Amino acid sequence: MTAETSAKTRCIAVPCPLCTSDDFDPIHTEETTYFEQPISLRIVRCRKCQMVYTNPRLAEVNMAYEERETLDPQYIEHHMKTKQPVFTQALHRLQSLCPAPARVIDIGCGVGGFLSVARKAGYDVVGIEPSPVDAQHAREELDLIVHDTLFEKAELEANSFDMVTLWDVIEHVENPRGIVRRSAEVLRPGGWVVMRMPGATFHRFKARILGLWAGPSAVVYSPVIHLSFFSSQTIRRLLTEEGFDRIQVRLTPCEWNSSTWIANLLRASWHAGASILARLTGIHLDNLEVYARRVPSNGSKDV
Ligand SMILES: [Zn+2]
Repeated sequence: MTAETSAKTRCIAVPCPLCTSDDFDPIHTEETTYFEQPISLRIVRCRKCQMVYTNPRLAEVNMAYEERETLDPQYIEHHMKTKQPVFTQALHRLQSLCPAPARVIDIGCGVGGFLSVARKAGYDVVGIEPSPVDAQHAREELDLIVHDTLFEKAELEANSFDMVTLWDVIEHVENPRGIVRRSAEVLRPGGWVVMRMPGATFHRFKARILGLWAGPSAVVYSPVIHLSFFSSQTIRRLLTEEGFDRIQVRLTPCEWNSSTWIANLLRASWHAGASILARLTGIHLDNLEVYARRVPSNGSKDV
């Protein structure tokens, strides 16, 4: 192995991203390859706060995004096709919470799928995207304003946005608390943060079912790129601690291959069943969509 490959595949132990404890139970291990080297990554659950996270994880988690030099047209088509139904559905809810024309910033905006949908609905939109080629595509092909940097490093005015959106982003970042805190900083008091993410309960369920025939290392969590797995309880705790209230946690369907009617039918059926189960029992067996308000400046807090 070269020194360069060794640096790319180096793993580090990390504390709980929610409560900083080092006390955890291992719940799953996935064997995979990264830059053509075999690596083994473990999913653990914090004994103090029940947060599920990848530990150890890759030391350089952003390398795969930042090193990408070209965009595959099939990737763009797949991204647009699978995400559009999610964005269109969510937009109905966003319009009731924070109607257009409001100022929206989409973090990890990729090739600009959500920004494009939101702009058509009348929102004033800006994107942040660490992958230079994705950001360039959004700027040149969709005429969007997108900064290719990390949210933590972007020069943004405090209290200047009405809504921050993070679609399938928070599970990828090294410091999810930092991202939520930064969202609170750039939002005006009373503004909204909206997130979509894999559900921790759903992933544990999938690991048990797939493990029955694929064994204990069944590929479920994708821990090379997924570092944090929030449940309804752990995301509520993080948002409350960082100054948000009116927290709503909903289920959102997985993005299965939507090219066949049978896959779409299965996805819709699963989502419908999971939604009923969630209402009856509070158990969330699907991915999560979360809405939360930055507490207004007069401090009138309600949950
Ligand atoms: Zn913890």
